[in-house]
Amino acid sequence: ASGSDASSIRHLDERTVQRIAAGEVVERPASVVKELVENALDAGADRIAVSVTDGGTSRIRVRDNGVGIPPAQLPDAVAEHATSKIADIEDLDAGVGTLGFRGEALYTIGAVSRLTVRSRPRPDAHDSVRGDEGDGGRTDVDVAPDAGAELTVEGGEVGAVQPAGCPVGTTVEVADLFFNTPARRKFLKTNATEFDHVNRVVTQYALANPDVAVSLEHDGRETFATQGNGDLESAVLAVYGRDVATSMIPVEYTVDDETPDPGESESSSPLAGTPIERVHGLVSHPETTRANREYLSTFVNDRYVTTSILRNAVVDAYGGQLAPDRYPFAVLFVELPAGTVDVNVHPRKLEIRFDEPAAVRETVSAAVESALLDHGVIRSTAPRG
Ligand code: ADP
Ligand code: MG
Repeated sequence: ASGSDASSIRHLDERTVQRIAAGEVVERPASVVKELVENALDAGADRIAVSVTDGGTSRIRVRDNGVGIPPAQLPDAVAEHATSKIADIEDLDAGVGTLGFRGEALYTIGAVSRLTVRSRPRPDAHDSVRGDEGDGGRTDVDVAPDAGAELTVEGGEVGAVQPAGCPVGTTVEVADLFFNTPARRKFLKTNATEFDHVNRVVTQYALANPDVAVSLEHDGRETFATQGNGDLESAVLAVYGRDVATSMIPVEYTVDDETPDPGESESSSPLAGTPIERVHGLVSHPETTRANREYLSTFVNDRYVTTSILRNAVVDAYGGQLAPDRYPFAVLFVELPAGTVDVNVHPRKLEIRFDEPAAVRETVSAAVESALLDHGVIRSTAPRG
């Protein structure tokens, strides 16, 4: 700060450290939305309503009908490194079934906004929130364990738990993101651009979870709402509209792991050694395209990834029958054993590492190509090479 001796080494106060750390996780409104939607999914919600104002820069609200948070555990939910999802490093090594587990999202968001968590637990559904700061069965909360309650955090300042009437589930509201970190706030783009990022995030979760009714609203107007009936085509219809939905072609490809029959030489099969078990989803007709790759949604073991290996694999399948610089729509799920893929990269990055990238690319491409050929929407091309 001005007037201080710039050459002396000093310890930063806790609030400053907290805000700097927060900037690493929360980059923009879309990063907040991602964390809140993941929490709602982890809570087992089948209805998630996202509503933002001014691209999310003024207000973000995510409401779910999941298991909820007991009033006494609200302070733990916003505390650093407190999570109900893992207990220790052994749980982590055993594999995490939830989208979150670090216990830092709410803490971090609360440091750089005005955060309100309002929740009412689903009866008998709660497990305790674990963490190194949590003191478990707090007794200073004056709300019945099955009633609704809320807690507000303003720039890291945690308020008291208050009773609040609400249905079972959780509503998290984030107002004035980065109000106390002007340098961060300055880096935000226009409301339209910020909303664009929010829309992309919510779209990916809506497509990945057709059994969850996901809705998005911007400045009071509905952007889309999926039905949550489990049908991927209906989710695509809700998100991308009728023209795209009607052009989609189903992909369903299972890799047989039976031992190849003795007459067949193993190396003649392009799929020999692929770790992939199944590829399924929808891809568009070659004439239904966009000018960029962002409509190529690929999921590995249900996690959205932007890995170019998969996007290129889809494009390859069209065998040069796409117009120049045009890309198809895809909502494609790739399933492979957890041990053949490294998802434990940075939580904000959507990258992933495959042990066998070439085999993965080839299998995904073959899966999409056979769907396109079956539907007669591409001409078969001479074998490559
Ligand atoms: P993490 O998701 O890594 O556990 P978070 O900071 O995102 O960390 O959330 C902390 C804890 O708060 C979660 O472990 C969970 O117990 C609780 N929580 C957060 N959001 C919700 C929600 N929407 N529904 C139920 N519980 C929630
Ligand atoms: Mg989380």
